[in-house]
Amino acid sequence: MSQQQFENFTASSLYCAKCKTAMPVRERLLLVLPDRELYDYLCTGCASSVGQREVTAGDKLMARAAAPRPRRRAIAPRGLVP
Ligand SMILES: [Zn+2]
Repeated sequence: MSQQQFENFTASSLYCAKCKTAMPVRERLLLVLPDRELYDYLCTGCASSVGQREVTAGDKLMARAAAPRPRRRAIAPRGLVP
């Protein structure tokens, strides 16, 4: 389970109103719905929420489609062998 958290971790920075500067953020899974997941971004300085991200099922399908697929070998047509 801890491995999943590492996969979701993104080392990005967002502006924090409390710290009044761009701070590195922590991504936290906030809510899981049947068709989407909601992520919360927490400031690593003051732990306040600085943003949210929504990942829909469509985004996941797109990511899967973009992944490299195994190459198919061409099949020689039958009946052409002399
Ligand atoms: Zn902050």
